[in-house]
Amino acid sequence: MPDPVTTCQSCGMPLAAPGDRGTENDGTPSPYYCRYCYRDGAFAEPGITIERMAERGGEMMSTMFQIPPERARAFTLQQLRSLLRWSGRLVPSCGSCGMPLQETGDAGTEADGSPSTRYCVHCYRDGAFTQPDLTRETMIEQYAPLLANELGMPLEQARVMVTAFTATLPRWG
Ligand SMILES: [Zn+2]
Ligand SMILES: [Zn+2]
Repeated sequence: MPDPVTTCQSCGMPLAAPGDRGTENDGTPSPYYCRYCYRDGAFAEPGITIERMAERGGEMMSTMFQIPPERARAFTLQQLRSLLRWSGRLVPSCGSCGMPLQETGDAGTEADGSPSTRYCVHCYRDGAFTQPDLTRETMIEQYAPLLANELGMPLEQARVMVTAFTATLPRWG
């Protein structure tokens, strides 16, 4: 059994509580998918497309965080593309900043020089964090204005979104 992931690999919803997970055939929690996407070992909507999923997720994000609908949809689509259901492979994401480790060059390095499967190249090199004193609060303060700008949303909403997101990352959770 692989390490359980912390984001639904179909819709991108955070899998924070054990009850958020879907179920396999034998009733055990799914390592990959949420309870809305996956039940009893099968997808709840086997025919759904990534575009439809992005539309739906975008609408939700748009309402929750006051993001213009078109930007919310485009952002969601970009997030979905790295997920197992849509990319066909499990792309690990950085446990510090959440960036998907898509290409070899995206991964940080362990102390022995091997590529890290846990952290990205910006956060982690030679087995140590590049910013060891970085706190979750500082990270939120740095990242929220960038996100607000990228998505055209109020800064206060960006803070809420980043705060919720960092809670799913192993370094901060
Ligand atoms: Zn899901
Ligand atoms: Zn990172």
